[in-house]
Amino acid sequence: MDILTLGEIKNQKLTRASLEVLSEAKRLANGKKVINVLIGNNLKDFSALISSYGASEILLIEDPSLGEFNSQSYSEILVNIIKEKKPALFLLPANIHGKEIAALVSAKLEISLISDCTDLKIKDNLLEYIHPIYSGKVIAAYQSLTSFQAAALRPNIFPLIEENPNNQAQIIHLSFIPQDNLKIKLLEVLKPKEETLEISEARIIVSGGRGLKEAENFKLLEELAEVLGAAVGASRLAVDAGWRDHQYQVGQTGKVVSPDLYIACGISGAIQHLVGMSSSKCIIAINKDPEANIFKVANYGIVGDLFEVVPLLTEEFKKILTN
Ligand SMILES: Cc1cc2nc3c(=O)[nH]c(=O)nc-3n(C[C@H](O)[C@H](O)[C@H](O)COP(=O)(O)OP(=O)(O)OC[C@H]3O[C@@H](n4cnc5c(N)ncnc54)[C@H](O)[C@@H]3O)c2cc1C
Repeated sequence: MDILTLGEIKNQKLTRASLEVLSEAKRLANGKKVINVLIGNNLKDFSALISSYGASEILLIEDPSLGEFNSQSYSEILVNIIKEKKPALFLLPANIHGKEIAALVSAKLEISLISDCTDLKIKDNLLEYIHPIYSGKVIAAYQSLTSFQAAALRPNIFPLIEENPNNQAQIIHLSFIPQDNLKIKLLEVLKPKEETLEISEARIIVSGGRGLKEAENFKLLEELAEVLGAAVGASRLAVDAGWRDHQYQVGQTGKVVSPDLYIACGISGAIQHLVGMSSSKCIIAINKDPEANIFKVANYGIVGDLFEVVPLLTEEFKKILTN
């Protein structure tokens, strides 16, 4: 069963989520081809890395007009490739761009799509998918009954395979004629005020809620995050209060994250927050209320005042990690 995957470039780097998708494709391919598509501008530098993650073919579609993401152009390119290559499965990351493309491609091809998939396996020659629904309260298992299916994989869930620098993928350049019927045009990319780690890619996240009381107090979390090499996230109430930008919001109306370690500081653990972080591999909660809901999903709980606990953690981690 050939598998088509989509690579994604951000800040001139292949995202970890794309490598996870490639890794999962390689695990499922069972000797069949993994074909990775890369769309953008100046793409040749990425081929070696994609190859080392087991791709058999790399399709490069390069054009200056593709340098910035455009869902219409990207999805039309993918639809044409899928029609020609006829893979059994199309995998891509379930992040902002990936989810948009997955929906467009599936609609255009009239195929089913499993979005935000957290597990994928082949049983009796049929694909089975796991996908959390109802804000993560229910885990749904699906079985594919069609010969072709698309799935967007939740980032930070699927482990990376070991790189094999000896693997040599075949590199194929496909031509692209810029379309003149674009319905959307990118005018400007608004960069965040300060460059901080992107939460959906981070392995460690230190997150703050209303317990932080004011924007300036996020500095405490930034200090801890710097020592740990972590990103700083926030609950919706912290975002609504204007303490943090929306791009750092974790939860139902923010981002779904699955880091190795999630440290929740002054966050009560409302269901809309839990749906965004409960698949983290290890959760530490710091809250002064021993009854706080967040402790129900935490692996480790610290009942205490975050204004005392967080600086102590920063000090201790600094001692351990800098020695
Ligand atoms: C449709 C919808 C979508 C939503 N989407 C999201 C979403 O995406 N993400 C999200 O987060 N929420 C979302 N919410 C809001 C959610 O319901 C909660 O209101 C929100 O998560 C609560 O944020 P919080 O935990 O920061 O604040 P609170 O619930 O007020 O909790 C603050 C916590 O801080 C603790 N605390 C206070 N002072 C200290 C201290 N000094 N030391 C230690 N602990 C302290 C308190 O004990 C308390 O537990 C959504 C709600 C709706 C209705």
